[in-house]
Amino acid sequence: MHPFTYTRVSDTREALTAGRRGGRYLAGGTTLVDLMRETVERPEALVDISGLPLREILVTRRGGLRIGALVTMAETAAHRGVRALYPVISQALELSASAQLRNMATIGGNIMQRTRCTYFRDVTAACNKRQLGSGCAAREGFNRTHAILGTSDACVATHPSDVAVAFAALEATVVVLGPDGERGVPFADFLLRPGSTPSREQALRRGELITAVEIPALPRPLRSGYLKVRDRQSYEFALTSAAVALHISGGVIRHAKVAAGGVGTVPWKLPAVERQLIGRRPSDALWAKAAERAADGARPLHHNRFKVELLKRTVERQLRVVGGGK
Ligand code: SF4
Repeated sequence: MHPFTYTRVSDTREALTAGRRGGRYLAGGTTLVDLMRETVERPEALVDISGLPLREILVTRRGGLRIGALVTMAETAAHRGVRALYPVISQALELSASAQLRNMATIGGNIMQRTRCTYFRDVTAACNKRQLGSGCAAREGFNRTHAILGTSDACVATHPSDVAVAFAALEATVVVLGPDGERGVPFADFLLRPGSTPSREQALRRGELITAVEIPALPRPLRSGYLKVRDRQSYEFALTSAAVALHISGGVIRHAKVAAGGVGTVPWKLPAVERQLIGRRPSDALWAKAAERAADGARPLHHNRFKVELLKRTVERQLRVVGGGK
């Protein structure tokens, strides 16, 4: 462990001042403290924001949500409004981590969490995300759990969050606070693909603080759900996952929101699948046809070719679960 300073702040202005000076925000600590113990992260200053008033979930009149950045995963999953309006969010959270971690980890921290690539966490391995220019041990190493979509020569690591897949599907907005006030960042733009700079993972400016995640109101009735496929049934990251939300009216799919996890360097929105669904009647044939597009553009690695077919089957199954079928 490297030496660091610790400051606990009580208002957002204090937090921003400390953040602008280079302090790292600490909330639940379930990712950052682990990484500090492993010396993967070596911040010089920690800014404890856990006392800030960002712990509320608001349901808008039209049925949207604003989830405060410091609401825990467990509180969000259990919230009546979240369960009623967006079961896909509750399900994604309940299938994440362990009960103890869900009681500590926050929504803001969850979307900021870093990859579970084992080479990233092994400080003796080459890793461009940890040290740019050192190489990528996963490319030639054991890459069964790595990404098949959105990869670059520099990095092939997946984003580990489940709820971020639901946020991507629902086209959420991340609300961030900086010196000039609040701004909303569309979820699709918030998490960055690795490109040639894999250490830059979010579209945050220096010192900016996440204050909330907003889910837009979607037409009702809306059916939604999350499916996670993994090597064991609990406390495991996704090999593949699918977040699906469908508005079906008059027997026709009017709105379709679909994203996949465990396969992309960021949660992977599936617009080609959505286009196949909109304006059509639910049927088993439609689910299969739409899911065929789920792996468009995939570039599998040596050990993870199975993910291409698994992803299609995951999406097809979750479309059937949410949309029904004949
Ligand atoms: Fe590092 Fe990314 Fe390669 Fe993993 S996949 S070793 S995180 S550069």
